[in-house]
Order: sequence, then structure tokens, then C-alpha cells
Amino acid sequence: MSEDWNERTKAVHGGVRRSQYGEVSEAIFLTQGFVYDSAEAAEARFIEAGDDEFIYARYGNPTVRMFEERIAALEGCEDGFATASGMAAVNGALVSMLKAGDHVVSSRALFGSCLYILENILTRYGVEVTFVDGTDLEQWRDAIRPETKAVFFESLSNPTLEVIDIAAVAELAHAVGALVVVDNVFATPVFSRAAELGADVIIYSATKHIDGQGRALGGVILGSRDFIRGTVEPYMKHTGGALSPFSAWILLKGLETMPLRVRAQADTAQAIAEALDGHQALARVLYPGLKDHAQHDLVQTQMGGRGGTVLSLDLKGGKDAAFRFLNAMSIPVISNNLGDAKSIATHPATTTHQRLSDAQKDALGITPGLVRFSVGLEDAGDLIADLTRALETAG
Ligand SMILES: *Cc1c(COP(=O)(O)O)cnc(C)c1O
Repeated sequence: MSEDWNERTKAVHGGVRRSQYGEVSEAIFLTQGFVYDSAEAAEARFIEAGDDEFIYARYGNPTVRMFEERIAALEGCEDGFATASGMAAVNGALVSMLKAGDHVVSSRALFGSCLYILENILTRYGVEVTFVDGTDLEQWRDAIRPETKAVFFESLSNPTLEVIDIAAVAELAHAVGALVVVDNVFATPVFSRAAELGADVIIYSATKHIDGQGRALGGVILGSRDFIRGTVEPYMKHTGGALSPFSAWILLKGLETMPLRVRAQADTAQAIAEALDGHQALARVLYPGLKDHAQHDLVQTQMGGRGGTVLSLDLKGGKDAAFRFLNAMSIPVISNNLGDAKSIATHPATTTHQRLSDAQKDALGITPGLVRFSVGLEDAGDLIADLTRALETAG
């Protein structure tokens, strides 16, 4: 593989490891273990395993390794460690690097399970966590202090799609030697410039756009070779959050089409946002690709002007109108995943963010009328017609 290859070439050819059969499509090495030629060879491999040498699938596997190398190449990172889910990646990245007495600053607008790790798990082991409004640089500046070991945030927040300034937060964090850990799911590997902008560790739930067809759970932690092999791997290989080789194969094949899918989905998301913006049934259309988005300039520099594949619609009529809207759609499915080929509509206040108090929902902008819409691969005109009709039914 060449570093000079562009995105689509890397997505198809990155990380390929061929067996002695010279297969075209990547092989699924559905094996837990590996055979050694001799007792001496086993001993040598336990002292140090070479690049093409594996010991046990909890530590690594050729199909999993292909996935790690392909996504690392796409993201512009030296290395990656694949995990059983996105949450295993968030947990693995944070727990492997932190110890009692360390301090972490995190954005408050987080995926519920990420919030649980920061608020309920890390603190139980003596890590102090300070939460800030991720879009307010003054709050990051005030919260980051000499003993801060890491900052954590979702670069594009769920479900209100606020953009956090990776370069600016990285500058503040790096001044005290803290690592910048970014959950980059909503930005997607296609519109990400996180590594270039100063993120040290980038995390994906591969369950989302990387699979993109709703089949497998998976995740990946990306960063420098030292961090991945020196800090993450020892923790992951002994604690068991390994990705299965079969799921790795699904995700590896998902990467081949990911740039095409994600760009098509983002084009449709842009078209829907523009078509519905200003509709009389809507209080707000939240989409980073709209000209009136609060961080329009940052979207240009950080995401190349692209708004991603998710938009949120806030219905004037509150929960009742939101439910009528959801029930009146005929193409999208009501579910809670995102990044799928099928458009998916979610009511965050009663599902993904149900656990939050009313005050927390208010603070995060999760109103009763808010509907999150993950745009799929269907025809843009069909989706706009369906959503417009459903909005009329909702009133
Ligand atoms: C889905 C998601 C996760 C968790 O990923 P799983 O694969 O479901 O474990 C973490 N962060 C964000 C932003 C997500 O959307």
C-alpha cells in the first residue's frame, strides 16, 4: 500500500494480506488460535510476534488486522486497535491511559454510554472528570489544568449537531501535555480531518457508517503506533474486548464502499435540510451543512464544508407532533442506529436520551419535538416527498 493513495484507493486496497491462495476478496480467518512449526517457534513468538505472526484471536487475527490497517490508512493514523463495539473502544482508550489521581475534561453533550463511562466508571477509580460546554472555548480553558491527562469530546454532537473546534481544544490540551481523544462517529472517517487538526486518539463505532448496512457491532481506536501498541493493546488483549474475525470481515468490506455511501448520504442530507428549512411545522432544522448553522465557518475548515449524514428536525408541536411525524413516514424506519443504508428516524427525548432529567435535556437542546434523522441511500426526491407529506400529517 502507498501513503500517496487517495481515499477511495485506500478504502479498497488498504491493509490487504493475501494467503498462499492469492484470493481476490479478503479471507475470513475464523480461527481462535494459530499453530507453531515447533516448540522453539512458539517460544520465539511469545517473546516477540512479528508483523505476520499471531498468537490468539483475543490479541489479534489476520482479518482483524486487515480492518485495523485499512481504517488507520484512511484516517491518516499510524495504527489502530479494533474492538467488539464502539463502547469497547471508548472504554479501552480511556481506561488504558488513565489512573487514579488523573484529571479529564469532557464535553457534556455525549452519547449516553460515553457519559456513563466518564461519570460513573472513571470516577469510581479515582479519576476526576470536569464537564464543559464543548462549544465554549473559555470553559475548556478554565477547566484544563496541569494534571489534566486527557480531554474527550464528540466532534459533532448527538443529536443537536454542534461542532467542537478540534484544533482549538487541542492547542489548550497540548499546552499541559494532555491527550486529545475524539469520538468521531458523526463526522465519519470520510469528513474527518481530526488527526491533522491535533487529535491524538480517534475513536469510531464501526457499527455506524463503517458497516453502514446494519449488520455488525464493532469499534476501533486509532492513534500513534506507540499509543496503540504500547498503551491500548496490553489493556485490550487482557480484558477481552476483541472484535470477532467475522465482524471484522464485514467491516473491512464495508470500508470499500464507505466513501461512496457516506458522500451520497451527505448529499441527500444536505438536500433534505435545504428542502425542509423554514417549513411551517418546524421550529428548527439542525444541520451543519446549512448556511445558518451556528458554527458555519468551523464546518468549512473542519469538515470541508460537508454537514455529514445526520440532521435533526425540531417540530413546533412538541412530542405529539414528533410522534405523528414518525408514524406518518413510510420510507424511513423508526430505530436508534445511524449511518445505515436505510434512513432511520429517532425520537431522542423518549429513547436514546430518555435517562436524562428534564433539566439535562434542556441544557443539551433535546426538546420534546426533536427528531433525529439519519439519512440513508434511498432516492433524495422520494425521501423529501415522504418527509414533507409526514410533516403535513404532523401539523
Ligand atoms: C453508537 C455510538 C457509540 C457506541 O458505539 P457501539 O458500537 O454502539 O458500541 C459511541 N459514540 C457515538 C457518538 C455513537 O454514535
